[in-house]
Amino acid sequence: MNCELISVGTEILLGDILNTNARFLSKELAALGISLMYQTTVGDNEERLKACLDLAFSRADTVILTGGLGPTPDDLTKEVCADYFGKRLIMREDILEEIKSYFYGKGLRMPESNAKQALVPEDSTVLLNENGTAPGFIMENKGRKIIILPGPPREMEPMFRRQVIPYLKKFSDSVIKSHTVRTFGIGESAMSERVADLLEKDNPTVAPYAKDGEALLRITAKAENEEEADKLISPLLAEIKERLGSYIYGIDAQSIEEATVSLMKEKKLTAAFAESCTAGLCAKRITDISGASEVFHCGVVSYSDDIKEKLLGVSSDDLSRFGAVSEIVAAQMALGIKRLSGADYGVAVTGMAGPTSDDPKKEVGLIYIAVTDGESLYLKEFHGRKNGSCRDYNRFVSASNAINQLRLCILNSPELRSEGSITEFINSYPRN
Ligand code: ATP
Ligand code: MG
Repeated sequence: MNCELISVGTEILLGDILNTNARFLSKELAALGISLMYQTTVGDNEERLKACLDLAFSRADTVILTGGLGPTPDDLTKEVCADYFGKRLIMREDILEEIKSYFYGKGLRMPESNAKQALVPEDSTVLLNENGTAPGFIMENKGRKIIILPGPPREMEPMFRRQVIPYLKKFSDSVIKSHTVRTFGIGESAMSERVADLLEKDNPTVAPYAKDGEALLRITAKAENEEEADKLISPLLAEIKERLGSYIYGIDAQSIEEATVSLMKEKKLTAAFAESCTAGLCAKRITDISGASEVFHCGVVSYSDDIKEKLLGVSSDDLSRFGAVSEIVAAQMALGIKRLSGADYGVAVTGMAGPTSDDPKKEVGLIYIAVTDGESLYLKEFHGRKNGSCRDYNRFVSASNAINQLRLCILNSPELRSEGSITEFINSYPRN
């Protein structure tokens, strides 16, 4: 089976909505082992949609269309497709009743225009819509297939999963399975070097990429069935885990905060955050995870020097001598929040998010992270972006680094360097 995708909707062409249906369907088709060579987006226009169908069928035997099944006159996908296969539209009273009861269930009367959605191309298979009014359709004609799905993702996705996948499986003799290995703190090129020989492999393939300051590896296997694909993947995954160690924070959909929260839950540990440049972003991201109350103690947005001193006990001398963006201030903030909260770990972030620097000696993008368990200090200095739209990026990546540094501390990771005793670090810091 050779498939193409046509996304119908002028709003996609105008950039009003993001074509997430194409992303969803591409992934699903890949998982089914069905090849997808082209995707097209077209407005709600009869002639151009017909031209897209012509082009798609010149290259593929199956075309999936989304959108344009609504009740308004500009929704014409079904009409054009039926006509394309030389089929009439027939009113189905049972579907009309279902649409009426959908409205009735919401305490509404069905608007006349919705009756159009009960028109069904003759000889087609109807796909029931559990979350809306427009049914979908599968039409077959001389070995060619058209699958029509509604535009709204919450209607289209379950319809595809429950009704289209079982249909498509009949035509596919293989599955494609992939896993994403998520790492933090190593960088794409260093990560790639460690697994260089694996990147040459054929089935499964291993491909590196970078996203939001993280480096990821995608492992993809093609096999007769899921079980066989798993068999191909697992030794490779084990090898990658061995080589990348605690740089790996999760496999597949986890985020760094999810991985950290679940690790803390498992070990029954708590943390408190003192945030300067991230101004609460660490706290926000940690508490985005359900069940965070077990592990998140508190967060202080210590933006001004004054509050760093008063609340966290940072030395005013050190603040004026070294500036708020310095390792010594980061260390004192971490110890301060640890003492103030009584949590197991104190985490501090201070840095220049940019785009301008308020200290001529410090570059935009310079960030310090400090984590302490009350005894030892784990520092990290890193450099984010210097210009352009650096502010959001630097803040996001600073929070990621802080959360990851906490995770590495909990794991007692070999990638982590300890500065030794935190009180000694602060007391004997070279001040001349
Ligand atoms: P409706 O009955 O709501 O008109 P429809 O099947 O006619 O449904 P469209 O008119 O194309 O579908 O789109 C309806 C809504 O569905 C859009 O406003 C948009 O929110 C969403 N949508 C449509 N196509 C896509 C797409 N490709 N990706 C993401 N969302 C989409
Ligand atoms: Mg519509």
